[in-house]
Order: sequence, then structure tokens, then C-alpha cells
Amino acid sequence: MLIRHTGNYNWDDVPVLVYKEQGICFKDITRQVLLTGDSELPCQLRYFEVAPGGHSTLEHHQHVHFVVIFRGEGDVLLGDRIYHVQEKDVIEIPAHIWHQFKATANVPLGFLCLVNTERDKPILPTEDDLKLLQKDPAIAAFIR
Ligand code: MN
Repeated sequence: MLIRHTGNYNWDDVPVLVYKEQGICFKDITRQVLLTGDSELPCQLRYFEVAPGGHSTLEHHQHVHFVVIFRGEGDVLLGDRIYHVQEKDVIEIPAHIWHQFKATANVPLGFLCLVNTERDKPILPTEDDLKLLQKDPAIAAFIR
């Protein structure tokens, strides 16, 4: 199967969805599901794009993400560290690690993300979680 790139980070017959989770709409982020595997490869390959100034959810979960930065640059919180990332960087997000992507430059941040098709729901921070995270000034300034 070939899914043809049709220009401008869109692919043939792949709808561009506004990214939502648990009824919450996150800031300036779209999702495209490029491939959904079968029992031999029970995973999905998605393309997310965060507009300049936008961000993904601050979350953690049991399932793991493999991410490849595909377009632009930005910053990512991984556990207790913030990294600047750019095209072709590869990221593993292990189970139950707080993570959030931000398009901090003046360009979109686009990334491919591989996940299990069957996966647990992300856990969002409680007030107590936020207080713990905010003990680190860099993280306090980063998270949205
Ligand atoms: Mn996640």
C-alpha cells in the first residue's frame, strides 16, 4: 500500500483531525492517522502537527510512544527534562513519563508517532501533580 503525500504535510485520503482527548481540545494541534496495523503489527502510525505557539497535552500513560520529528522544531518535556528538538530527531517516551510537545519556534512542529492500537487512556495532571512538577522552575515555565 502506498499513501501518497499530496503536499503540505497532507496525505491522500487521510483526514486532518483536530486533536482532542477526553473531550478536551488542545491548542493548535492536528492529527492524521496514516496507518493502522493488524494483529501482526498492532500499532498505529500518526502524524501530529503543532502550530507555532501551540502544544500537546501534558500527560502520561502506560503505552509507549516512538516519535520522529518530521517538520520544524520545538521543545519537548520528557520526565524532568526539557529538550529542544528538530527534524530527524528520534524520541522514545517510556511508560508513565510526563510529556508535552510545544512548537516554541516560529514554525510548525510536525512529528510521526508510533503507538499500540490498543492503549490505555492518557492520565492528565492533578493539582498535586502540577505542584510537584512546578517545583522545577524550568518545568513550571514550560508546562501549559
Ligand atoms: Mn502521550
